[in-house]
Amino acid sequence: MCDTLGVCVTPLTCRHCGAVDAPVLGPGSGPHAARAHCRHCGRFVQWLPRVRVQRKEVMSVGSVNRCLLVGTISKYGVEVRYAPSGAPCASFTLVLVETDKDGAGST
Ligand SMILES: [Zn+2]
Repeated sequence: MCDTLGVCVTPLTCRHCGAVDAPVLGPGSGPHAARAHCRHCGRFVQWLPRVRVQRKEVMSVGSVNRCLLVGTISKYGVEVRYAPSGAPCASFTLVLVETDKDGAGST
């Protein structure tokens, strides 16, 4: 199942209310790409490993280049706003860790 931004997440079963649906994604941490919350009761369901959150393949248009950023959604999560037309627009901060030759990481 994919949202309007092309982020695809498999439906999960909520152990609190029993709903089976694509979760609402929150900020990730460490090895986790994001945290999954139940779309119906809003409670935490599980951490999502990076392999469960994948971008849907999008057709290239004209001379537009594509890039793939692999990181963790920041502690502030995803903010979804709606234009007057109803079109959704999401914004979030992606935390990237860069490792230098000495093995020291920086964000
Ligand atoms: Zn639930």
